[in-house]
Amino acid sequence: MANKVVIENGFVRYLFRGGIGLNKKLLIVDDQTGIRILLTEVFNAEGYTTFQASNGRLALEIVKKEAPDLVLLDMKIPGMDGLDILRHIKQMDESIKVIMMTAYGELDMIKETTELGVLEHFTKPFDIDELRIAVNNQFLAPNERRFG
Ligand SMILES: [Mg+2]
Repeated sequence: MANKVVIENGFVRYLFRGGIGLNKKLLIVDDQTGIRILLTEVFNAEGYTTFQASNGRLALEIVKKEAPDLVLLDMKIPGMDGLDILRHIKQMDESIKVIMMTAYGELDMIKETTELGVLEHFTKPFDIDELRIAVNNQFLAPNERRFG
């Protein structure tokens, strides 16, 4: 039975809660409030403890204080951009998993972020369910992973 997120009448609805995220901390970094709210709802429902940051300064403060297991990081953020934030995160703790959210036209940066250890890149607008599965898979053994 697969976990499913459906969007009905503008509301996000969760079917079959997974609980994969139990005891895992997830930091969501995006300057867009709507995306932070959506991702927070989706990953709270999966059992993750979530933190939100709208800018790099706040993101690094949370990394220092909370040591998240995984960071969902927007590439395009005013001020310190996603690439700078990524460099700082990896300097602070190389073991923190990072998944990037990029926009069309940022392909040139992907080589650099991959070299810095980014696990996956999702191009906006992405399928929220694919992102949810990708995050959960990071905490599952290879034989338990789902791909859709
Ligand atoms: Mg942005």
